[in-house]
Amino acid sequence: MLENQLLKIAQDFGSPVYVYNAEKIESQYKRLTNAFKAVKSLKINYAVKALSNISILKLFNSLGSGIDTVSIQEVQLGLAAGFLPDQIIFTPNGVSLNEIEEAAKLGVKINIDNLSILEQFGTKHPKTPVCIRINPHVMAGGNANISVGHIDSKFGISIHQIPHILRIVENTKMTINGIHMHTGSDILDIEVFLYASEILFETAKQFKNLDFIDFGSGFKVPYKPGDIETNIEELGEKLSKKFNDFCKEYGKDLTLAFEPGKFLVSESGSFLTKVNAIKQTTSTVFAQVDSGFNHLIRPMFYGSHHEIINISNPKGRERFYTVVGYICETDTFGNNRRINEINEGDVLCFKNAGAYCFSMASNYNSRFRPAEVLWYKEKAHLIRKRETFEDIMNNQIEVDFTSKKEKELIK
Ligand SMILES: *Cc1c(COP(=O)(O)O)cnc(C)c1O
Repeated sequence: MLENQLLKIAQDFGSPVYVYNAEKIESQYKRLTNAFKAVKSLKINYAVKALSNISILKLFNSLGSGIDTVSIQEVQLGLAAGFLPDQIIFTPNGVSLNEIEEAAKLGVKINIDNLSILEQFGTKHPKTPVCIRINPHVMAGGNANISVGHIDSKFGISIHQIPHILRIVENTKMTINGIHMHTGSDILDIEVFLYASEILFETAKQFKNLDFIDFGSGFKVPYKPGDIETNIEELGEKLSKKFNDFCKEYGKDLTLAFEPGKFLVSESGSFLTKVNAIKQTTSTVFAQVDSGFNHLIRPMFYGSHHEIINISNPKGRERFYTVVGYICETDTFGNNRRINEINEGDVLCFKNAGAYCFSMASNYNSRFRPAEVLWYKEKAHLIRKRETFEDIMNNQIEVDFTSKKEKELIK
């Protein structure tokens, strides 16, 4: 998308506003499917939690994608967006048996990552096939908070507990139709991924009724110039070959599944904010924008880097700014960034604002959550209205604290 198109959206829809470029989502989806074209049956299940607007889900549906969901509400959203139940996989962590049963009733694929739940579910519903989330204990994550493959992670069933799984399957007569892993975000080294895949194949051999193997996600996208990104094409070539060899050995053409979030939507997103004020202190020039970590928490939460550009003055002389939000707490988006000269009222664009941005937004400081706009076929479509004061008051119940005595006095 061009900068003047973004600027026009900020003018037309107000700020702050999230903008997603449908074309970028589509090209990332095609890049991934193309990388694995050597595999007979490939399934991409978009991870809804990255960006869950129903129009985004409908876009993925139109591309032929399935979805990966982590809560019953995401399952319901997926159904509302028109996905068929068998296009939806439910991969929760730490939810009640009840919630899993609810999802199973809706007919979606079930992925279980806990021995206790597996045993209870298998005992009650031996006819419903389930997929098992394995923890291969491979450290592939970039950030400690988002790597989920290590030994004391709460995710998945340890590969060292396969004998337990087999015992449960035998006792309950349940069917295991898939093997899954998700080693966490930010896979830098595809060798680590391929190593984990070997572990998954070894595990898969012990289950005779598989339909699919799901390799999760964790593909890295560049957030700033010079960032390493997962080489999807190389991974596709190497993993496809391993997978096809495995299928031969297994004696059945299984489906190879992935469930990326960030890879598919991160780069499609731009977050537009307006500069309320420039504040010069003795050491720093702050650009104070009309947003904060209530709308984009990643920098404060994980120390993530989002490129920030001034789309109102793209040719201006570069200067150093610390870009901060209006939340009454430390609320820094970027420290000492070199940005084209900023004037009050300029629109700043935060890049890579598609994944885990709006979906993590809150009403902290009683602020409205931003509007969302989808840029599709050269046109801006509003896909979520900006909230209003009614949304802030909604669901709040007021207690009447006027005492009897006061009421009598008023009379
Ligand atoms: C969050 C999540 C994903 C998506 O991860 P990305 O890093 O956004 O690609 C995939 N699978 C599961 C089970 C997840 O929880």
